[in-house]
Amino acid sequence: MLKFDVVVIGAGGAGMMCAIHAGRRGRKVALIDHATVIGRKILISGGGRCNFTNINAGPDNYVSNNPHFHKSALSRYSPGDFIEMVEKHRIAYHEKKLGQLFCDGSASQIVDMLMNECDKAGATFLKGRIVREVKREAEDSNFLIHTHNETITCESLVIATGGLSIPQIGATGFGYQIAQQFGLKVVETNPALDGFNFSSADLSKFKELTGVSVDSVVSVNKVAFRENILFTHNGLSGPASLQASLYWKKGNPISINIAPDIDPIGYFNERFADGSNKEVKNILAEIIPRRLAEILCQMENIKGNVSELSEVKMRALAARLENWQITPQGTVGYKKAEVTRGGVDTNALSSTTMEAKKVPGLYFIGEVVDVTGQLGGYNFQWAWASGSAAGHAV
Ligand SMILES: Cc1cc2nc3c(=O)[nH]c(=O)nc-3n(C[C@H](O)[C@H](O)[C@H](O)COP(=O)(O)OP(=O)(O)OC[C@H]3O[C@@H](n4cnc5c(N)ncnc54)[C@H](O)[C@@H]3O)c2cc1C
Repeated sequence: MLKFDVVVIGAGGAGMMCAIHAGRRGRKVALIDHATVIGRKILISGGGRCNFTNINAGPDNYVSNNPHFHKSALSRYSPGDFIEMVEKHRIAYHEKKLGQLFCDGSASQIVDMLMNECDKAGATFLKGRIVREVKREAEDSNFLIHTHNETITCESLVIATGGLSIPQIGATGFGYQIAQQFGLKVVETNPALDGFNFSSADLSKFKELTGVSVDSVVSVNKVAFRENILFTHNGLSGPASLQASLYWKKGNPISINIAPDIDPIGYFNERFADGSNKEVKNILAEIIPRRLAEILCQMENIKGNVSELSEVKMRALAARLENWQITPQGTVGYKKAEVTRGGVDTNALSSTTMEAKKVPGLYFIGEVVDVTGQLGGYNFQWAWASGSAAGHAV
């Protein structure tokens, strides 16, 4: 039987950060993963360059049933703390936009850095392990972890197995099962940061828009994001749609402002008064992509020149530009989702240590917990911060 002080199941960002801090405190740590390649999500993140943090990360960038839970961990491990590690390892990085920090080179540098720090902290990687069962005879006894070929025992068990997104690279619901096995509630999970699928009726209206991208404000449930949207074969993608999908619930409409810098009524009045009498769609195409201008005119049944446009139609077109309401059929799903919203109920965990309040010695960190960040480096910051919080306690 292998004996460790701490076993972390899931050697992703959160798990490795926890192992680093626990190992530095002299704890004997093992990281178990069913994958043979460590940090696959990090490797594919940020288009291969890993958006490893956001310098503006704060509690408001996260969604959770308890909006206060994540404050403590985030305040104790800041973006600056992670940047310090990145700089110590001489990894070049840049701010792409909106506080988002990416590697200049490759996401593999972040994995190498974390694995190197784990090694220095004395942590042992146990890769390619299928965990068959986790048991504990009594509250004060050690955990027993039965893998396909060994039994491992530990005082503290940390679950860092992430969410359900991208099952193709090994995501599982293991963490939720362990939570339930030990009597912890799991908040309903859904794919998020994945954009929207439209109904077939909407798709038939918008199919010619596939590939069109436009700077927009997408609003849902009183939250608004300004960035590009991209019409796809199935619906809507692009950063503003991905962000909105984090806040969307089935049945909600989304509202799109596709010309956010323009007051449409003012613009139309100005252009209609200049006497040029152009086709309406051409006037629209001066402020939004031409294909979009054509579809909007089609949807409002507007054909001719400016001189033929009634006040009512002008107002309808303006409303469509400013507040185009679509009710998506769903979000794109786990195969594409960057994250899983929901997870282990934060009410069951200590916000200081991530330990289950009713199960001493059992910890949950990272994406498996009901704390989900917006797009832009926030999810890794949560992985680092929650991992560090547990690493100081286990
Ligand atoms: C395509 C994509 C791009 C992304 N880009 C970014 C980005 O640029 N910036 C950002 O902040 N966030 C990004 N994210 C989100 C981010 O990757 C995750 O939020 C973060 O990796 C979560 O870390 P974690 O350690 O909690 O879980 P994970 O990184 O998912 O790690 C979980 C680990 O547990 C292992 N595991 C799972 N089930 C089992 C099991 N049953 N037994 C043993 N091991 C198991 C997995 O193999 C994995 O190694 C992206 C996500 C995706 C999918």
